[in-house]
Amino acid sequence: MTARERKTKVTAFTGKGRLFRKYFLIISSVFIVCIILTGGLTLLFISQYWTQANRGSLLNDSMSVASMVERFADSGLLFNKADITSGERLREFIAVSLKTTSDSSGSDVFILRPDGTVDLCKEMVSEDVTGYPGEFECEIHSDIVFPPSFTETLWRGDTFTLYGDLPGVYSEKVFLAAAPIMARGQYWGAVVSVQSVRSVLTTFILDFLKLILIAMGIALVISFVTVYFLVYSITKPLSEMSDAARQYSNGNFSARVKVRGDDEMSSLCRSFNKMADSLEAMEASRSSFVSNVSHELRTPMTNISGFVQSILDGTCPESQRREKLNIIKSEVERMSRLVTSMLNLSRIEAGALKLEPRRFNLTELIFTTALGFEKSISEKNIDMVGLDKLPPIEVCADADMINQVLFNLIENAVKYTPEGNSIEIRAEKRAGTVYVDVVNHGIGIPEDECRMIFERFYKVDKSRSVNARSVGLGLYIVKTLIGLHNGTINVTSDGKTYTCFTFTLPPADKTAASNN
Ligand code: ADP
Repeated sequence: MTARERKTKVTAFTGKGRLFRKYFLIISSVFIVCIILTGGLTLLFISQYWTQANRGSLLNDSMSVASMVERFADSGLLFNKADITSGERLREFIAVSLKTTSDSSGSDVFILRPDGTVDLCKEMVSEDVTGYPGEFECEIHSDIVFPPSFTETLWRGDTFTLYGDLPGVYSEKVFLAAAPIMARGQYWGAVVSVQSVRSVLTTFILDFLKLILIAMGIALVISFVTVYFLVYSITKPLSEMSDAARQYSNGNFSARVKVRGDDEMSSLCRSFNKMADSLEAMEASRSSFVSNVSHELRTPMTNISGFVQSILDGTCPESQRREKLNIIKSEVERMSRLVTSMLNLSRIEAGALKLEPRRFNLTELIFTTALGFEKSISEKNIDMVGLDKLPPIEVCADADMINQVLFNLIENAVKYTPEGNSIEIRAEKRAGTVYVDVVNHGIGIPEDECRMIFERFYKVDKSRSVNARSVGLGLYIVKTLIGLHNGTINVTSDGKTYTCFTFTLPPADKTAASNN
């Protein structure tokens, strides 16, 4: 076995050839692209949605702190110079709220003065705020000064949101939401919530990406396994078929494809196996035909050659020469019959013999065919019964073929009827169907062989002397010709004394239908 053959064999065995790899790669790639696309688009959509939602929640934070401060300012407690202590306590309380809000949202929440500088931030909590105003300096917020362009909107009492950088204040991208503190009809400042886009979005995207990657990983594993088995289930039968076809081309028709499930592929496998059965049967029939023909020809040829040799070299006495020449004559006749039968057979099997139905008198045909055997019938002193009682029957069939059928059946009847016995031919028409019986009283056919005698080259008890002249094709031809007419042929025998062949011809319209 060459390396290539070995490789092909292994590939066919495992079912993972080039087709498998091709389909697996294509379908897997499509899956990967789809999964990545879905993951990417989901990430984009979620980020945008989250950005919007984040901006809204920042604004809510700012607004709720602003409204709280507004209420304190409106109540006059916040900057009450008469009661500095309570004002400071309130500021401390507001700073605590800023811290709580900052911690819960992860943003930096502080209060701006009308001039844009930071007034109060969460860093002031836990510091000594009693020294207010202005004694505590927050390292983070002390340098922040929001430009007038920013505070302009707030002065008007409108909220302000930003997604981007704020030159002079924040150099990096931020989420920013500011709500004005309007008390007693005046702009008192604003509550600002700020988040660094990079830190928040990166954390969010990383968290989400982690989830997406896990989901994508699971989806990929599931799709890989599914695609693997799916492609395998398609390519495995194909590679089995290709392997089997290779074996058929080498003359081995025993290989079959395993049928799995009940889908188009399994129906293809079933059809493939059926085709293999037919091929195997055809091959068996071809080889048995060849061996039968060679056997049928070899025997008479050996006999002829032996007899001719003995006549030529003078070993055959003068007195036996005539007998030997007669045997040679009958062997030659047998070979000629064999060749004629085979020619007929091959024409029938090749479909060259077309049915040409026409109306004719069957009774007449039976008479003339039987008359052809007059000589042998009288030689064997056979009693021909029933011909005079035949009713006139008209049929629509191929006269030449029916003539061949009658000839073969009557020839057999004459051949297998011992001297002094009788042959009976009956014919009748019932419900449009014609029934013809050819009965001979003679040796009979054993019951278990009745089924086989219509097969090619089948002979009952090859040792019978009459069978020495038989080739076993006559009944096969009869069966094929009757089959072409859509009729039937049967045999009944008691196995000892009589044999009855019955063939039927269906009504004319059915014969014509079978011909179409
Ligand atoms: P062949 O044409 O060589 O006789 P057939 O196919 O007609 O071959 O017959 C097959 C076998 O059937 C014969 O060898 C014979 O043994 C048996 N057979 C056929 N007709 C009869 C019959 N009328 N009586 C007894 N045996 C028969």
